[in-house]
Amino acid sequence: MLNEKRKARIDEILRRKQPDLQIFLDDVHSSQNNSAILRSADAAGVLGLYYSCRDDLDVKIHKTITQGAHRWVGRERVDYDQRVDLIASKRAEGMQVIVTALDDHAVSFREVDFTKPTLLVVGNEKEGVSQEVIALADQTIIIPMMGMVQSLNVSVATAITLYEAQRQREEADMYTQSRLSEEEIAEIKDAWLYRDSVARRSKGNIPTKAKLWEDW
Ligand code: SAM
Repeated sequence: MLNEKRKARIDEILRRKQPDLQIFLDDVHSSQNNSAILRSADAAGVLGLYYSCRDDLDVKIHKTITQGAHRWVGRERVDYDQRVDLIASKRAEGMQVIVTALDDHAVSFREVDFTKPTLLVVGNEKEGVSQEVIALADQTIIIPMMGMVQSLNVSVATAITLYEAQRQREEADMYTQSRLSEEEIAEIKDAWLYRDSVARRSKGNIPTKAKLWEDW
């Protein structure tokens, strides 16, 4: 049985969620990186992320890495062939598409206004974000590198960028008033409470009672 304290905590977390700060993982196929990103996403108040993989790989959740964060952040797999359409539809909805890329046009990640509805895109460990996706960017951004190595690990780059977004959004008071409607909170809470109670009883797969994000 879930106690009232747990329910209140879930409610509190939902009221800090930033539904208009979303992440897209472009062919990030390391399940460890995927899990580490989920944990940072939870910490920054992200409601859900999307991911696509070129290969038909199963990107597992590592519970020792997520420490449970996968239960509080939605994760939806998008067919690799559909990812450009998904990102284009996010743009059409009014989200700015901010792509982390080590290219000549990239500006510092600190120059972006992350209080705007944002889809943050990070890329593959070897090749970075694909050219098709970069083509959809409103802006490419770079985290300045002062050492010998060209790039950061993708989960580290995601966390650094998310925390710039978190800093800006906290300054703009975006965590103090719920960004979700009461109906959305009730719907997600219902799904979360269900999962939470099942997760506490079961060590196996948690059945989905998914709503807004497929993998909940
Ligand atoms: N050779 C790849 C490239 O040119 O993009 C490096 C990929 S890097 C290991 C993996 C991902 O982490 C990148 O696609 C990007 O999303 C992110 N990343 C790593 N370092 C970054 C940096 N300094 N600035 C922006 N993004 C970075």
